[in-house]
Amino acid sequence: MAGGLEQLWAGWRSDYVVSATEEARQGGDGACVFCAIAASGPPSPDNGVVWRGELSLAVLNRYPYASGHLLVLPVRHVGGLEDLDAAESADLWASTLAAMAALRAAYSPDGLNMGSNQGRAAGAGVPGHVHLHVLPRWAGDTNFMTTVLGVRVIPEDLRVAWQKISAAWPDD
Ligand SMILES: [Zn+2]
Repeated sequence: MAGGLEQLWAGWRSDYVVSATEEARQGGDGACVFCAIAASGPPSPDNGVVWRGELSLAVLNRYPYASGHLLVLPVRHVGGLEDLDAAESADLWASTLAAMAALRAAYSPDGLNMGSNQGRAAGAGVPGHVHLHVLPRWAGDTNFMTTVLGVRVIPEDLRVAWQKISAAWPDD
């Protein structure tokens, strides 16, 4: 199933952050989309943030690979997981586990993918601000085909996803 894995990661490469990076590039001021999201205020359907803590946050992927595709990231602008301090690292991990629990509760998926592309060569769209992908998967799902063919199909209205995931996010 090496081909399947390859296609999965190819899907992650063409996410939200690629087009967001284009916007930042056109802005020309080195703006980081994740820092902008982190500074955009409390969670709401408008900023796509489903959960916000002091050290980390979870945001909906604007161009999801699957319904409920989340990005979990530290508030601080750092490029690698190894650049986080101990408190940030623990907080990011706790937030990632909460994201997984929320997706299981909201979507009852057959499985989950969780992982990170570190560096542009590995497919990161915003290599300067580390982020973890968490997304639900279903047996026989074929969303990767839309990615491979370059046709983006939004699986679900993002506001619907925001409501579902916010409601399912575990209490602190
Ligand atoms: Zn940043």
